[in-house]
Amino acid sequence: GFKMGIVGLPNVGKSTLFNALTRTAAAQAANFPFCTIEPNVGEVAVPDVRLDKLAAIARSKQTIPTRMTFVDIAGLVKGASKGEGLGNQFLANIREVDAIAHVLRCFEDGDVTHVEGRVDPVADADTIETELMLADIESIEKRLQGLLRKVRGGDKDAVQQERLLKQALAVLEQGQPARVVAVDAEDAKAWKMLQLLTTKPVLYVCNVGESDAATGNEHSAKVAGMAAAQGNAHVIISAQIEEEISQLDPEEAQMFLAEMGLDEAGLDRLIRAGYELLHLETYFTVGPKEARAWTIRSGTAAPQAAGVIHGDFERGFIRAETIAFDDFVALGGEQGAKEAGKMRAEGKSYVVKDGDVLYFLFNT
Ligand code: GDP
Repeated sequence: GFKMGIVGLPNVGKSTLFNALTRTAAAQAANFPFCTIEPNVGEVAVPDVRLDKLAAIARSKQTIPTRMTFVDIAGLVKGASKGEGLGNQFLANIREVDAIAHVLRCFEDGDVTHVEGRVDPVADADTIETELMLADIESIEKRLQGLLRKVRGGDKDAVQQERLLKQALAVLEQGQPARVVAVDAEDAKAWKMLQLLTTKPVLYVCNVGESDAATGNEHSAKVAGMAAAQGNAHVIISAQIEEEISQLDPEEAQMFLAEMGLDEAGLDRLIRAGYELLHLETYFTVGPKEARAWTIRSGTAAPQAAGVIHGDFERGFIRAETIAFDDFVALGGEQGAKEAGKMRAEGKSYVVKDGDVLYFLFNT
């Protein structure tokens, strides 16, 4: 599955947000096998109204949403790259995530101490990014050393890695994150394997006070500007509201949201923004037993999409019987779609589309 790491300076609302996220997911879907894998790792259901529609049409006994993993990565402080705070352990945790949800304090509250003694989310973002850049520089220098012998021996992969690491180092030394490097298609895979911290896509989470939840405030407006300039994304959320909502049942929650001038929970927006940031899409499998959503990267071919369910589905892939979501709904399900000629047999080169309802045929 896909993983988002929650980072941010101390006291910005990370734990509040993480608790709200994991608790809501458990409450929303009673049959959803929610699990807290470790104290700081939680799986959340990706909200998708299409799944319920499909399940209603097919009279599926169960709906199973697709999931996203959130990791609460505590301990990032100024000096982390030099071993302050949790230091290196924390950096290792970030290496493993697909994207970073960076929580920024955009609320004023004299009772909650700010580590720098002021509310300035753009400066905070900079502090964290600087630590990540320093960590990248340090790891690149180590890796370049380690590659020397292989490069001299003419090892092709090592030569490619060295070239890419040097490109990254050059921009980092100018104070820019490695994500600004323009990478050719033939280098894309090796580049990703470098797992540099500052190549991960970032979603800024502006944590605003309750009264600013619907509108944002001057702080979140500055973050929005910064995010746009960097090509990153942002969402406005009030972690405190989300925590309160996560303790309500769904109807109460809806009323509470309406009172606050919100039409959906901030967490749903957050999860969806993460989905978009990672260029993820959803396809469905629908039957009488269950209707289920599955996550793929956009541009995934049918056999690899099948592989998300099971490796055997990918290895033995024959074809995918495919119905577009709109056709499935408009024609009242699989039978109707079939009769209308809207069920297509797609082969190995078919690129799955968001919302496709798929049935895989495979050799065992
Ligand atoms: P972390 O250190 O980043 O995990 O921060 P916490 O989630 O522990 O929050 C630090 C403190 O800020 C706690 O006392 C929270 O109740 C408080 N807090 C979090 N979000 C908000 C908010 O939106 N408004 C206000 N006033 N306080 C908040």
